[in-house]
Amino acid sequence: MSYIHETISDLKNTSPAQCEFYQAVEEVLESLAPILESNKLYQQQAIIQRLVEPERQIMFRVPWVDDQGQIQVNKGYRIEFNSALGPYKGGLRFHPSVNASIIKFLGFEQIFKNALTGLPIGGGKGGSNFNPKGKSDDEIMRFCQSFMTELYRHIGPTTDVPAGDIGVGAREIGYMFGQYKRLTGRYEGVLTGKSLLWGGSLVRKEATGYGVVYFAENMLSIKDESLKSKKCLVSGSGNVAIYAMEKLYQLGATPITCTDSTGTIFHESGIDLTLVKQLKEKSRKSLEAYLTEHNDAKFIPTSEYPSDGHAVWRIKADAAFPCATQNELTLADAKALIANGCQLVSEGANMPSTQDAINTLIDAKISYGPGKAANAGGVSTSQLEMAQNASMQTWSFEEVDQKLQIIMKNIFETAHQTAIEFGQPGNLVLGANIAGFKRVADAMLEQGVV
Ligand code: GLU
Repeated sequence: MSYIHETISDLKNTSPAQCEFYQAVEEVLESLAPILESNKLYQQQAIIQRLVEPERQIMFRVPWVDDQGQIQVNKGYRIEFNSALGPYKGGLRFHPSVNASIIKFLGFEQIFKNALTGLPIGGGKGGSNFNPKGKSDDEIMRFCQSFMTELYRHIGPTTDVPAGDIGVGAREIGYMFGQYKRLTGRYEGVLTGKSLLWGGSLVRKEATGYGVVYFAENMLSIKDESLKSKKCLVSGSGNVAIYAMEKLYQLGATPITCTDSTGTIFHESGIDLTLVKQLKEKSRKSLEAYLTEHNDAKFIPTSEYPSDGHAVWRIKADAAFPCATQNELTLADAKALIANGCQLVSEGANMPSTQDAINTLIDAKISYGPGKAANAGGVSTSQLEMAQNASMQTWSFEEVDQKLQIIMKNIFETAHQTAIEFGQPGNLVLGANIAGFKRVADAMLEQGVV
């Protein structure tokens, strides 16, 4: 597979020091050999070389004034990766770890995820190395306004439609929308994840978490199983983790863990979701505060994590839902899950498992739902929000949830059938990558060399 080696080494020369981006590209390219073999046009038309190069990369300065009157400067990014299937679509991440590599890996993943949904959306991603933790509401607002003061000229409801990701929720979307409207004078669906009061869609907040669990149910159903009565490990305690836990409870399963950047809560009898929502959505506190109400729960601080991985994946359970961040499930973590009898991993985060962990889970024949398939419910419901905004309609909770369930089932079926067609039944990484690639690559072929 020399094309993989060539592509990665070209990228290392032309886009140095972007290891997360190389990782994401390598994972996709490793799946594509059979389809590249079956249609020589992809190689003749340089589809891979075109796919790994963003159509446009915007990097900008975000200056703002903190509560002490000090000037702060952050980096802002929007990578408009691929528009073969529709306007660039993907979230904005505000986190101190953000750099060009992180945004490029996320944007690259987004191309295939969005293609897999079957909806008319291209791939993009953006964000900033701004750290929202510990910032006052006024500081968040001033930052968001400054960020949008540059971003507004690059986006629009038919060109590029950002949304949330880590560190960007309804509050940040609100401040950015307000500034966009002020600068352009237009009230339009330029962002998704908006408040229900002014253009948001029901179920958008819940969609990624619910979708991850719907995807898991689909994986289990072909084995005549379900999530009912299963003990589940969940990582993260943001939007994705919270609504994955909510859906798990609704389907009769029990989430027994959740995590944040300070540590892991393990509550054998089941996570108190009302309390986690209170701590994370309202008071924005560390998970350790969970113990004040539940002295039978255990808090494992990050300082006590195993050196080769994460405490959460070392706990015995039936299913695992990584919903925190990239590379949070290592090879040693995967081995521990398998040794403990875990039957399923469904990824709520983007690229949470390392490549060797993925290979180990697939070899062990565990039901493994890669993020770009399993977490596509969020962006799919964003597209439903765009559709409602464009047609000036609002749909009911049931209507949107019904559409989300159908989309998740279709994504699963597409990845599952594609894996069978290409001779690797059960390998949803291969299925998702090939199916997503085929849709976007065929559109690129038809649109010519652009
Ligand atoms: N950030 C989410 C993702 O990773 C959602 C993107 C969106 O809704 O546009 O897919």
